[in-house]
Amino acid sequence: MKKKHLVSYYSDVTSLPNRRNLYLYLRNKKEFSILLIDLGRLKGVNETYGFIYGDMLLNFAAKEIVRIVGVEGKVFHLQGEEFAIFIRERDPEKIVAWVEDLCEEFKKATIWINGKKKRMPFNLKIGIYISSTDVPESPDDILRKAYLAVMKAKEQKSTNYAFYDTEQDKNMKKKMLLIENLEKGIKGKEFYLCYQPVLNLRSEKIVGAESLLRWNCFSIGEIPPSDFIPIVEEENYINDLGNFVFKQSCRFLKEVKKVIPSFKININISPIQLENQCFLDQVQEIVEKEGVNFSDIKFEITENQILRDEDYNKKTLKKLLNLGASVVLDDFGSGYSSIKNLVLFPVSEIKIDSFLAKEMMTDKKAEILVSSIIFAAKESGYLLTLEGVETEEQYCKAKEMGFHMVQGYYVSKPVLEENFIEKFVAD
Ligand code: C2E
Ligand code: MG
Ligand code: MG
Repeated sequence: MKKKHLVSYYSDVTSLPNRRNLYLYLRNKKEFSILLIDLGRLKGVNETYGFIYGDMLLNFAAKEIVRIVGVEGKVFHLQGEEFAIFIRERDPEKIVAWVEDLCEEFKKATIWINGKKKRMPFNLKIGIYISSTDVPESPDDILRKAYLAVMKAKEQKSTNYAFYDTEQDKNMKKKMLLIENLEKGIKGKEFYLCYQPVLNLRSEKIVGAESLLRWNCFSIGEIPPSDFIPIVEEENYINDLGNFVFKQSCRFLKEVKKVIPSFKININISPIQLENQCFLDQVQEIVEKEGVNFSDIKFEITENQILRDEDYNKKTLKKLLNLGASVVLDDFGSGYSSIKNLVLFPVSEIKIDSFLAKEMMTDKKAEILVSSIIFAAKESGYLLTLEGVETEEQYCKAKEMGFHMVQGYYVSKPVLEENFIEKFVAD
């Protein structure tokens, strides 16, 4: 006998129409808005009081939403603590006023738990999608857009709601595409390094280079590190890729040192690498295997990176310094740039951000601030590099102001190893 498969169009818990029902309802509908509500309390109630109370919470919320929406719309219970409201209103201002009222009502909520009336101040997050009038959209795409909006509402602190944002949609798609290609890219050796020279301003000679990771993705093309590094970190590939960068950089260092004995290599380190318990062992192993010295290696980290796990990172940086390496505080002037961090963290060099390299040319205040950083840093024994130097004027200014080193397009863009050797090393 053939098994009959029953498909439900209503939620088991609240008896409200469910997602399947919404899909049917949206067919051939035009000119409307979808509000997607995330209650933000179910997990806490399930974990604290149990699932029966979680279901009670959902039923309470379902009734409240239906009451508040009244005849102006239709309410759906999609899954978990997610509800959708279909309304005809398309004026963003009116929707916002309505959403704010809804959130206020829910902040005052009280529910019964274990025979006791409890205040249950919901922190609703609401994503709003106003249907398109010129592009046909499938119900699934409409719901996807409302979900993106609720995701945005969860990320931001200022309001409980957010509208669908095409830019966010594009970025999400771009991110997914990178995720889909990442593993293939790592296995297929699509990652490689470029090197940007570091120039000493007194001798006007190349004294080192910064290694910069590049990804030439087979199906997308060249992707900038600002786009792929956060994804590599999120997807847990940063330790492997970081080791690849470290190994390649050490090999490059060894090559260049044959001609320039005082040459140093700057290597960017992600906070996740720094926090990895195996990090120190791994770098020590690579240094030994490649036959280079820690005294020729400069680890570049940014301020907000060390702040993630202050105490642990402080210890690791100290150990790197004890091994003879340098620690460079990268992008100084772009984030917190806190003096406290300079005092507390074991850092031997500071790299001033390219933003200040530009600002100090036109803004007297920026110039005075950079001068005072230079004074304080020199008095404290730090070496100072200015990055992002693009013009002759910036170069001369950096020299006049007393920077030790510069880096930037004025000297050279980051180049492949063979070009670096040919341009800056071969005699
Ligand atoms: P960063 O470490 O501050 O590197 C300097 C960035 O400025 C590089 O961008 C470089 O190409 C760019 N740059 C250099 N000179 C100039 C200039 O004169 N003008 C302008 N406009 N830009 C200049 P890139 O290569 O896109 O790297 C961006 C960031 O990605 C790096 O900033 C670093 O934070 C990160 N990154 C790059 N490679 C690695 C890596 O191997 N590991 C880790 N963890 N991060 C990396
Ligand atoms: Mg750097
Ligand atoms: Mg930098």
